[in-house]
Amino acid sequence: MSFQEQIANTTDCGFFEGAIPVKYEYTMGNAGDKFFRTMMEKGEIVASRCSKCGKLYVPPSTFCEADDCFSPTSEFQPIDQTGEVYSWTESHVDMAGNRHDKPQVYAMVKFNGVEGAIIHRLNAEASNVKIGMKVKPVFKEAAKREGNMEDIQYFTEV
Ligand SMILES: [Zn+2]
Repeated sequence: MSFQEQIANTTDCGFFEGAIPVKYEYTMGNAGDKFFRTMMEKGEIVASRCSKCGKLYVPPSTFCEADDCFSPTSEFQPIDQTGEVYSWTESHVDMAGNRHDKPQVYAMVKFNGVEGAIIHRLNAEASNVKIGMKVKPVFKEAAKREGNMEDIQYFTEV
């Protein structure tokens, strides 16, 4: 086979298997730092607020994403932590492919008057989950929080 020929069937290709170890550190940025630090220190979810149009963003953003705005969002304010399930799914395996003891429910939770959403575990049986159901975060006890998404243990129905 030459470079001029086109491969139409993937089984015609040779392959090798391997693993690429990747380690990285990703900075939280100003808005992320405020978001995670507030969860860790106060057990609250904060939104960034656009200085021009007032839109709120969770997770916080450093600029307004509204059409023709793009203003800085350097102010932060706590939001009503009662959100609602916008979408959800059920997981049977973890990121490494290991089977969960019992299926886990993950939900995209949106908050009233806030752009964006948080995706997290939902402490519910899949058969009981409804789009629009009211949920709130359950935080770890303060001494065990580390400033990351795991500071929220899960969301639970209100
Ligand atoms: Zn704006």
